[in-house]
Amino acid sequence: MKVKIIKGTHQIGGCITEVTSDKGTKIIIDFGEELTDEPKATVDYELEGLTHGKTKYKGVFITHSHGDHIGLISNIKKNIPIYIEEISAKIFEVSNAFCSGKPFNGTLKKFKFEEKIYIDDLVITPYRTDHSAYNSTMFLIENNGKRVLHLGDYRSTGYSGKTFYDNLKKIGSVDLLITEGTNLTSNDKIPTTEVALKEQAKQIFKKYKQIFILQASTNLDRLRSFREAALETGKKFVLDISTANILKAIDDPNYQYLNDKDVTVWIPNAYSKSTYSKRVESFYSHKDPKFYSQYIEPFDNTKLKKAQVHGEYVMLVKTSMAKDIEFNLKNYRDNAHLIYSMWTGYKDEKRPNTEKTREFLNKMQELNINEEVLHTSGHADLKTIKEVFEIINPKKAIGIHTEDNTKLAEYFSNYVIVKDGEEIEV
Ligand SMILES: [Zn+2]
Ligand SMILES: [Zn+2]
Repeated sequence: MKVKIIKGTHQIGGCITEVTSDKGTKIIIDFGEELTDEPKATVDYELEGLTHGKTKYKGVFITHSHGDHIGLISNIKKNIPIYIEEISAKIFEVSNAFCSGKPFNGTLKKFKFEEKIYIDDLVITPYRTDHSAYNSTMFLIENNGKRVLHLGDYRSTGYSGKTFYDNLKKIGSVDLLITEGTNLTSNDKIPTTEVALKEQAKQIFKKYKQIFILQASTNLDRLRSFREAALETGKKFVLDISTANILKAIDDPNYQYLNDKDVTVWIPNAYSKSTYSKRVESFYSHKDPKFYSQYIEPFDNTKLKKAQVHGEYVMLVKTSMAKDIEFNLKNYRDNAHLIYSMWTGYKDEKRPNTEKTREFLNKMQELNINEEVLHTSGHADLKTIKEVFEIINPKKAIGIHTEDNTKLAEYFSNYVIVKDGEEIEV
């Protein structure tokens, strides 16, 4: 078997891995955008045999629903199946329907964890990992007695940390390990666990009345931390309709609270309209008719009417919602606060595509809403990576999803520094 990192040995988003079996069967793992926080800033990428030309690949395997791993799949030739975990597929479908990006009409093949997928002489087994995207996958790829493990993005500090370690033990040793190294170039401090973050959130929630949270709506571990913290501090929990649809798509008891009395689902970007029906109309008018029946109608109209929330609440917001916040606070305001719960790189003016975030944060400042950072990484720290190496005991290892893949060589003797496009024999 051969492995080639087409892109990803010196960048954090948009990693693409190619695996070729002994008989020449080729698959791709992940096909996403270079890391940005705005869908508009997509950096397109063309790959011969995958997006155009004579078909070279038998399938594309997606590790999780983050844009830097799935964001370019609409460019893939329609005859190439895209394999994705079933709930991740639902999250992708909802996110795609709500954003005005390219419509997706390719072939999704949905799998369940630990069900083997056979493609010619390749056997691919997906296992659940722990990451900030719900139901993230790592892939064990076997061919002719050789084993490759592609971990995707991972950590051990989330709600699936234990499952992740249990699965690694099930997988056992491999010939080649492909690990991410996102956090190696930032700092090595031990990240907070989601459980500890929830306790910190509770302390903050107790001090303020209206709390706005800027986080990725697909970061469901974080959403769970904030929901539980809101519930335990007696705050209403306010969700926009796209996030609510993501939760609705998930059959997980930890997220079955949409009908709870303290939860409000609202339609954002409708602050200028006075009546509910006009708000809804303005929201979905540019979408197809199916959109309304699928994503809006199932929600309780009386709840949607309450889009102007009063009292004490925790509201999930996006950078596009500054005017909604202003509108809402005009009606009722008492000790408002903003929690920034994402990677701080997204507001770093030295990085590309951060304008929208900085604009939003400036607007919050104008509204005299103080900002506080409360975040923990979705990626592995060095301690977690070392534990993975101990369990998996790989003959060889390579690093991707990192700004500098030479760093890992300092810690692991079996680590090989590879360049984009270089083929490794397994
Ligand atoms: Zn990710
Ligand atoms: Zn990623």
